[in-house]
Amino acid sequence: MSISENLQKITSRIPNEVTLVAVSKTKPVSDLMEAYNSGQRIFGENKVQEMVEKYEQMPKDIEWHMIGHLQRNKVKYMAGFVSLIHGVDSFKLLIEIDKQAKKHNRVIDCLIQIKIAEEDSKFGMSEADAHWMLNSEEFLQLEHIKVKGLMGMATFTNNMAQVENEFNYLNQTFQNFQEFESTNFQPEIISMGMSGDYELAIACGSTMIRVGSNIFGARNYSN
Ligand SMILES: *Cc1c(COP(=O)(O)O)cnc(C)c1O
Repeated sequence: MSISENLQKITSRIPNEVTLVAVSKTKPVSDLMEAYNSGQRIFGENKVQEMVEKYEQMPKDIEWHMIGHLQRNKVKYMAGFVSLIHGVDSFKLLIEIDKQAKKHNRVIDCLIQIKIAEEDSKFGMSEADAHWMLNSEEFLQLEHIKVKGLMGMATFTNNMAQVENEFNYLNQTFQNFQEFESTNFQPEIISMGMSGDYELAIACGSTMIRVGSNIFGARNYSN
């Protein structure tokens, strides 16, 4: 199946209010353009340099989402154009995003990544640390970021009951955090679900799915 057929298949399966991020990491601009030409406008990348290169080559009405683990010293390269940063996993990173956004006179939307997987390899804040941050004076004073919700990555496993538990935990955390709403925390988005589990994620309350291989085919990391 072609990229546009894959996209059609996925969009026909998901409710209108769920946002599809097309995860295009490692894929050539020609593949992204095929998705663009069939109407896709939101792309997710996990490496800053790759995202910048694609941003420069592609139409300017695209929303670029940074979905990967982000190093503080890389924020400056994308601060002028990134639409949503999914993987904010520390207060220091959020403060750096605020600082770089200020230089561009922008407010950058962010999601707090919560660690929901048992695996040590997955990044994210604990619910307690995120709770503390969202209620801190320093957070409330940041003027160039807006936290729009939470993001999580489930354990890489075939055990769907475990994945379901992890998704439910993120949804529950999102519900618990509603009461912390402020000018800087406007919780609307739960980013969870990838190619193998997006239907389950939506059933567990996801409002934004990040799908790569089901759209663009398997990734080849060797080149
Ligand atoms: C690569 C990636 C995805 C997409 O994975 P697929 O299984 O190809 O859909 C989603 N989220 C994050 C954070 C990723 O790094």
